[in-house]
Amino acid sequence: MSKSLICSCEDVTTDDVRHAVSRGYCDVESVKRYTGFGTGICQGKSCLSAVAALLEKEKALKPAAVVPFTPRPPLYPTELRLLASAPVDESVPPVGGVPEAVEDYTPALRPTEPLPAKAKVVIIGGGIMGLALAYNLARAGETDVVVLERGYLCAGASGRNGGGVRMQWGTPALVELAKRSIDLMKGFARELGINVWLRQGGYLFMARTAAVAKKLERNVTLHNRFGVPTRLITPDAARDIVPGLTMKNCVAASFNPEDGVIFPWPFLWGYAQGARKLGVRVETYTEVKGFDLSGGQVRKVRTDRGDIACDTVVLASGAWSPEVARLAGVQLPNEPHRHEILSTEPLKPFLGPLVSVLDSGLYFSQSMRGEIVGGMGDPKEPAGLNMGSTLRFVSRFAQALMEQLPHVGHVKVLRQWAGCYDVTPDNNPILGRTPGLDNLLQMSGFVGHGFMMAPAVAERMAKWMATGESDELFTRFSLRRFSEGSIEREDMIIG
Ligand SMILES: Cc1cc2nc3c(=O)[nH]c(=O)nc-3n(C[C@H](O)[C@H](O)[C@H](O)COP(=O)(O)OP(=O)(O)OC[C@H]3O[C@@H](n4cnc5c(N)ncnc54)[C@H](O)[C@@H]3O)c2cc1C
Repeated sequence: MSKSLICSCEDVTTDDVRHAVSRGYCDVESVKRYTGFGTGICQGKSCLSAVAALLEKEKALKPAAVVPFTPRPPLYPTELRLLASAPVDESVPPVGGVPEAVEDYTPALRPTEPLPAKAKVVIIGGGIMGLALAYNLARAGETDVVVLERGYLCAGASGRNGGGVRMQWGTPALVELAKRSIDLMKGFARELGINVWLRQGGYLFMARTAAVAKKLERNVTLHNRFGVPTRLITPDAARDIVPGLTMKNCVAASFNPEDGVIFPWPFLWGYAQGARKLGVRVETYTEVKGFDLSGGQVRKVRTDRGDIACDTVVLASGAWSPEVARLAGVQLPNEPHRHEILSTEPLKPFLGPLVSVLDSGLYFSQSMRGEIVGGMGDPKEPAGLNMGSTLRFVSRFAQALMEQLPHVGHVKVLRQWAGCYDVTPDNNPILGRTPGLDNLLQMSGFVGHGFMMAPAVAERMAKWMATGESDELFTRFSLRRFSEGSIEREDMIIG
């Protein structure tokens, strides 16, 4: 049997693309993620136009909707050591990047069928939070649910993150949620029929200062109380876990072998597919533009495809949540912050855990495909919805990575991109009712850890919504806490 290759870097065939179309992934960005075409060494240079032509021919797309996917720097595979040699001025903030603007989606991508005139629950945002909630609501019997997503699935942070999942947190609530999430991830393939490539190689946190080492030590006690087997280890013991790691300037580390990484895209599709199968409508390329409010309630959600009357609205728009909340006259304290990330060419498996230098925000792991995937926060990054990629980031990252793993200098970076953390003042999410707008529910503010929290948070939120039973999670993390309550800050943040 012969196969007709369309992307030779990633071994994607025309049948793979047709299969993606048959599953409803009809635009170039979605097909790229569903099949992996264009993510290899040539970065789509040889296959993009062929896929676009195929999509047009299959009549899955109108010609105006065949927009190419966003090109990702570097222009060609570039060695980490070369990137590390680019000068960085740490005294000034990073600016711009390519492309700087968040994508604007052509109206030609909008579905043509009408939206339902009414739904019990409207969820704004088709990221991991919105989709996981929709799936859990449907499982609990509530299927009159519509998810509205302004772009393609994976357009937001959920399609741009590092896939790290860990129980090593600094506060009991997050340890408990993460522990439950990882348990649910283990059964994801069985339940939702899609492999999320969970690999529990552990998380190795490194400390450069006595203060950070103390924090890791304090956490060990907390984690062990929850049955999480984190242990404090010496630099030598860390080098045993990751051969070749220098542990330069590090005084201690903590290691939990049960933390790990997953592959983000199928995680999202699994929930989307599962929710759709149970009757939920997931409407992509549909943007919320406003609300009709009266009597302390949201009565209608206004979109660029018409209005939907609703009983309950859930705000799960990630870093865009403050922007969407403002349309209802609600002020959220969240701030979007760009975080950049990259992926290299694949290497043989050599790295078990996800490694992070807590003091600098450097993190890196090896994906199931063998790529080094990593990022590093920039303390000078200003707040804003910027998703551009910079040379400054790759240079800072390459320098910091090579300090810890000197032998990877020859490895080439294939792709870099950025997404936005949705940052709250105490690094904890905002969940539950909105004061003054009773049927507007908050589900945002997941900083750099929403991916790993989604299964557990969505499970509890769906139960809370479906049964009306009280759950302290939605009081603890309510919007009111910023004006009224005492704030317990989460400080195990990477970046
Ligand atoms: C570089 C990076 C690395 C990360 N690494 C990790 C990690 O290792 N582990 C982890 O757990 N987390 C990580 N995170 C964080 C994680 O990705 C997020 O917390 C999580 O994906 C948030 O999910 P969400 O559904 O709230 O938001 P999103 O995934 O951003 O979804 C929100 C959606 O709302 C849509 N939307 C916005 N406005 C509108 C509108 N008006 N109408 C309709 N739709 C709208 C957007 O298009 C978007 O798709 C990382 C984030 C980044 C950026």
